[in-house]
Amino acid sequence: MRSIAIDGPAGAGKSTLARKIAGEMGFIYVDTGALYRTVALYLLREGVDAAEAAKVEEALERIQVDIRFEGGTQQVYLNGERVSDRIRTPEVSMTASVSSALPCVRRFLLDQQRQMARTHDVVMDGRDIGTVVLPEADVKIFLTASPEDRARRRYEEFIEKGREIAFQEVLRDMKQRDAQDESRAVAPLKPAEDALLVDTTGETLAQSAARMIGLIQERMV
Ligand code: C5P
Repeated sequence: MRSIAIDGPAGAGKSTLARKIAGEMGFIYVDTGALYRTVALYLLREGVDAAEAAKVEEALERIQVDIRFEGGTQQVYLNGERVSDRIRTPEVSMTASVSSALPCVRRFLLDQQRQMARTHDVVMDGRDIGTVVLPEADVKIFLTASPEDRARRRYEEFIEKGREIAFQEVLRDMKQRDAQDESRAVAPLKPAEDALLVDTTGETLAQSAARMIGLIQERMV
């Protein structure tokens, strides 16, 4: 099986680019952030404090997270309920960033991610794919862009979905989430030593995709 790991901060274009690359290469696209978001949704619904390790660990015993591919698209299920759309809110983003710092949460989701790569050719995106989940990935890419560019993309996604939100709020949340993801003790957001750094600031997604596919093809022949 072959694998491409794409890591980087929120809004760098990971999911759109990873999906496009997977489509072109005939691989499946695995969005690992959705798993962390699904755990966070459960914690929010049950009123469990995401920062309290013991409470979260106990809650994990009641959580079943499943990934299914329906029409080639990843869907996530929380205890049998499809929650793919419900996990895309600012509250879930922020809670996921807090609970994902807990070792018990990372352990809970690790095997599931590795199993996907054992059974399929994958383009997998997240924060620690190249460093922890798939250290043997064929190609590792660390995607970045300026915080303003990243916040603008996220803001436009929210507006497109009809959500009312202020740009400054998106930018502030994004910076806070980056700081949390980069500073946590376990599996922090950072490039793997052998990752290719790709900065998408000022590029269109089509330009970034073309550049990345070129880099991947050079390495996967
Ligand atoms: O990628 P996405 O924004 O959906 O991820 C939500 C949160 O899940 C991130 O802010 C991060 O804290 C966490 N995450 C993680 N490791 C991953 C993917 C996501 O810690 N591989």
